Amino acid sequence: MLTALTELKGFEEKQGATRENGAEHGAHRHRKSWLERKSREEAELGYEKQPYCIVIGGGQGGIGLGARLKRLGVPTIIIDKHERPGDAWRERYKSLCLHDPVWYDHMPYLPFPDHWPVFAPKDKIGDWLEMYAKVMELNYWSSSECKRAAYDPITEEWTLLVDRDGQTVTLRPKQLILATGMSGIPSIPEYPGASSFAGVQHHSSRHPGGEGFAGKRCVVIGSNNSAHDICADLWEHGANVTMVQRSSTHIVKSETLMELALGGLYSEKALSAGMTTEKADLTFASIPYRIMADFQIPVYAQVAERDADFYERLTKAGFMLDFGDDNSGLFMKYLRRGSGYYIDVGAAELVASGEVKLKSAVDVVEIKEHAVLLSDGSELPADLIVYATGYGSMNGWAAKILSQDVADKVGKCWGFGSDTKKDPGPWEGELRNMWKPTQQDALWFHGGNLHQSRHYSLYLALQLKARLEGIPTPVYGMGEVHHTS
Ligand SMILES: Cc1cc2nc3c(=O)[nH]c(=O)nc-3n(C[C@H](O)[C@H](O)[C@H](O)COP(=O)(O)OP(=O)(O)OC[C@H]3O[C@@H](n4cnc5c(N)ncnc54)[C@H](O)[C@@H]3O)c2cc1C
Repeated sequence: MLTALTELKGFEEKQGATRENGAEHGAHRHRKSWLERKSREEAELGYEKQPYCIVIGGGQGGIGLGARLKRLGVPTIIIDKHERPGDAWRERYKSLCLHDPVWYDHMPYLPFPDHWPVFAPKDKIGDWLEMYAKVMELNYWSSSECKRAAYDPITEEWTLLVDRDGQTVTLRPKQLILATGMSGIPSIPEYPGASSFAGVQHHSSRHPGGEGFAGKRCVVIGSNNSAHDICADLWEHGANVTMVQRSSTHIVKSETLMELALGGLYSEKALSAGMTTEKADLTFASIPYRIMADFQIPVYAQVAERDADFYERLTKAGFMLDFGDDNSGLFMKYLRRGSGYYIDVGAAELVASGEVKLKSAVDVVEIKEHAVLLSDGSELPADLIVYATGYGSMNGWAAKILSQDVADKVGKCWGFGSDTKKDPGPWEGELRNMWKPTQQDALWFHGGNLHQSRHYSLYLALQLKARLEGIPTPVYGMGEVHHTS
């Protein structure tokens, strides 16, 4: 049996019959228009009036949560370093399209229209988010970076120093939410000799696209999603590409994933069978993490069988493949560690056929002026090195923006203690620190993919609203901290 909070009695969102009238009928002297009222609210909030919540990070996570808080009447400012909402997507490599299909990706309240492509290109998502922030009337401060934040337990208030377009603004909210992204802090291994490299080198998050690399020798270090996407893009631009794989990766073909793993809840077929996004989300959330792997193992056994030829071709090419520590596949890897997989949209065939060359079971030992030296003693001549080496944990954001002490106090984010690779035990039951009270008063973490952000932002928003309204919020079973990062 699953029980879940859907609304707070007496503080329901206005909707349908309780919606606002909009126009004030009658004759009113000194009437203020909607735009005047909105502009005034925007000008005052953060200066003359303090918001109850600050959300740091205005990607899809911060924006969706901001929309829920707005609907609940919780005064909130979302701040983001970028110039425009959606820029976090716009800045990623040119060829990026969502890896998850449209039915899985809706934002709260405003679903994509029914002609929206199955896999939206990243700039289209960027534009959608910008539009969304505008029409949902969010207090969104762009070009605003939170430099520092500290909590005062006496006043029960945060003090944030924000650089807003060159001006320092001090904000004093009661609640602080980090929505700074699970894939936000690039992890770049420190290889000896990297500074002597004569070519171009950058992390995958800084990779602009394959243009200009035709005929160039490109080495992509890593073998997960970004590595595959970037290898394919470089290949399409006529580059000579080698992928360096250190450890095994889980690969599942996009069509197979959609059909066998997602289709029952998130697909056109599911919709016509009466499944709604909300029902699908709740159904998905109703499976306890403790037994979720048992549900997933048979699905991925089917995946392996259906695409057996494909997997055989890949392994023959030397690719080190896995299906997760217990063969439970993609979602479990995502929930446990947020990495270690590629949803194949074509790049794996390039690896299997040798069009993208592969060096597997090797590590990088040194970067030379014109080459990458590998642990088997071989050298890959290189004009470009892309470090597709993933991202650090959200705990790193707490260390960066708050302090190492606070980061250590709240501990690791994500994963639930499955005692599998990168998700050490003991068993903790729910994703660490996500969408729930943490060991630091008034500090919350929000993030994940579009599906998770959509669904869990509801519970986070309700917890914040309850605190604003003074509804008692005793916390049952506060998680212990077992790991600092
Ligand atoms: C290559 C790639 C492909 C992906 N594909 C998918 C996909 O298909 N589907 C999916 O659901 N997810 C996908 N993801 C995961 C994706 O990262 C998230 O869905 C999404 O970007 C997370 O949204 P977010 O709002 O949590 O974080 P982000 O989009 O990372 O936004 C965080 C924001 O925080 C801001 N910020 C950070 N620090 C500060 C500060 N101090 N002050 C102010 N602002 C700050 C940043 O500017 C940024 O805009 C992909 C990720 C990558 C890297």
